[in-house]
Amino acid sequence: MDHQGNDDRKVISRRKMLEKFGIIVGTTAFAATIGAGPAYGFRGGGSGCGSECNSPPKHSKAYAQYQDHPNKDGQSCVGCIFFSPAKAAGQMGSCSIVSGEISPYGWCRLFVQNQAPQFPGDGG
Ligand code: SF4
Repeated sequence: MDHQGNDDRKVISRRKMLEKFGIIVGTTAFAATIGAGPAYGFRGGGSGCGSECNSPPKHSKAYAQYQDHPNKDGQSCVGCIFFSPAKAAGQMGSCSIVSGEISPYGWCRLFVQNQAPQFPGDGG
């Protein structure tokens, strides 16, 4: 072999080494991306989780000491920032922090007064 042949082998060898290095770097970057997901709270995308996977768990009614009537001061779920009214007549509402069906007339110890007016013209 002559001197030129040796240089070709070195060039090919360097090229193969760079290709392998590129595959390793690419694979490592991909693995880091996948691994970083749960650390940032993202659990969607192919794991079988829907949007509910990113929702915080709700408290039980027992923990919240939920009752289906207003408290002694007249506070009720309809005036709470966590309440969502029913989507159709005759159905119960829901709460963003307490699980289960929630009555607009219910109340629990986690109640937080909604400052927005309940009806147009209330003025808050
Ligand atoms: S936090 Fe309690 S009071 Fe407020 S909507 Fe939920 S259940 Fe009702």
